[in-house]
Amino acid sequence: MLNFHIKDGTEFVVFDMEWNQPIYGKEYNFDVSSLTGEIIEIGAVKYVYDSGMPVMAGTFSVNIKPVMYTKLHYHVKKVTNKTNQDLAKGIPFEEAYDRFQKFMGGAQILVGWGNSDPAMLKQNLRFFDMDDDLHVFFLDLQPVFSLFGGERGKQRSVEFAVDYYSIEKTEGFHSATADAIYTGRIFEKIFEHNKTAQVLSAVSSSAVDPDIVSEFTMVGSAVKDQSRAFAGTRAFWKKCPICGSIFNNKIPSFRIRKSEYALLYCPNHGEFFARSRVKKNRDGDYYASSVLRLATQNDYYLVACKREEYDKFGVEGKPKEEKTDDSEQGC
Ligand SMILES: [Zn+2]
Repeated sequence: MLNFHIKDGTEFVVFDMEWNQPIYGKEYNFDVSSLTGEIIEIGAVKYVYDSGMPVMAGTFSVNIKPVMYTKLHYHVKKVTNKTNQDLAKGIPFEEAYDRFQKFMGGAQILVGWGNSDPAMLKQNLRFFDMDDDLHVFFLDLQPVFSLFGGERGKQRSVEFAVDYYSIEKTEGFHSATADAIYTGRIFEKIFEHNKTAQVLSAVSSSAVDPDIVSEFTMVGSAVKDQSRAFAGTRAFWKKCPICGSIFNNKIPSFRIRKSEYALLYCPNHGEFFARSRVKKNRDGDYYASSVLRLATQNDYYLVACKREEYDKFGVEGKPKEEKTDDSEQGC
């Protein structure tokens, strides 16, 4: 929820990022979970609010040379059409972020499609020992689009929204810069096609402060059996910990080995990743430790992948051919 009113002169920066991913099976000399993606491109468009409409005021684009994941992940290559040569042409992340901050200037609201970009940006800032406070509000335009498109709760791609508003396709999709430009046009169209007061109200109530906690944990009490340990954390997965809305199931909860997963959806805050793990305490009793967080793209893939494994192999999961640690790297 915004703590100020949008008025003439309020600045928005619509942005999008692309990131490279670690390659499965490759050895890294650091904890890969502390950098689940390394940013390789930031694209942005600035808008200034004027008399009921956001007015475009500039564009920004930068390619970043990755230093940890220097070779393009197959999936990223396929989606973005980038090459390893393209990566080498980028500038260092610190310099790119500095330029981005200068472009942001006094903008008070970042706008993106989906809620994964701010988390990824913060993760990269932390990893490279930079200040990870963004000092702006973040608006996920995707649920706002769904709301005004009359399909609340549905998740649509940028391209779907572009088609919905018959926006001219002047660029390809899936480059950060092109997607930021398209997201900006969708932002304009939402204002153009709806009552200003309603749009402002939706924008104000949907905006979140990305510098506040987006991960919530809960540890259940010790019980004699595993199923009861899982059951103990279930109430935690009922309501959004930020606004209290009842969650919808995007991927209903399922158990695989010692973990239970779900992908939950809050109409105000988007997707949440949910995972409970059952552990044993010193007395031999079981307890579950549970986490809920605003889902990143990686979280989404993880739950979808675990669900696929569960559908194929059930609670026991895929039989292990060889002894490996029970990490999530397989997904
Ligand atoms: Zn919520």
